Amino acid sequence: MKIICIGRNYANHAKEMNSPIPDVPMFFMKPDTALLPKKNPFFYPSFTNDLHYECEIVVRINKLGKNIAEKFAHEYYDEIGLGIDFTARDLQQKCKENGHPWEIAKAFEHSAPMSDQFLNKNNLSMENLNFFLYKNGELVQHGNTKDMIFNIDKLIAYISQFMTLKIGDLLFTGTPEGVGPVQIGDILKGKIEDTDMFTLKIK
Ligand code: ZN
Repeated sequence: MKIICIGRNYANHAKEMNSPIPDVPMFFMKPDTALLPKKNPFFYPSFTNDLHYECEIVVRINKLGKNIAEKFAHEYYDEIGLGIDFTARDLQQKCKENGHPWEIAKAFEHSAPMSDQFLNKNNLSMENLNFFLYKNGELVQHGNTKDMIFNIDKLIAYISQFMTLKIGDLLFTGTPEGVGPVQIGDILKGKIEDTDMFTLKIK
């Protein structure tokens, strides 16, 4: 399986990063080793001094498809989870300055921890869905899917022009504003509406 991540899909996050708002979706990838296996601890990586959380709605693809039309894209997923697109912001900044790819800053081991549970989209209002990230009990990110620049169907249609989507592929749909650093000892907690999705301690 593969993990596809969308960059700059919320205008206020693009703004806080001093990045332009894209006119087509921008994506990058993480390997399957970016997932954090169940019950494994998350360790602060040694190669960064500025590890940032980015809380994101994650779509799980449930049907093989390529060149998917936007109007059929909703048939290619029925569950969503919540995850963190961990980013070594210092390394990413260097990559940006040098015009290099982002892999060392984004695709490293366990850089995509996510909820064990997935929620059925039919029980949710997908176009108006709140999600939250708390750091040590304090709310640091509050997103709503209505603020996505490109909604999930548009993302699926766009990405599937370039690569076949397969069952089990995960799509991280971008982060809202409020990204920030974590330190060893911090506890991150993610929620979709009232549902607790994950708790993660930085070791
Ligand atoms: Zn992200």
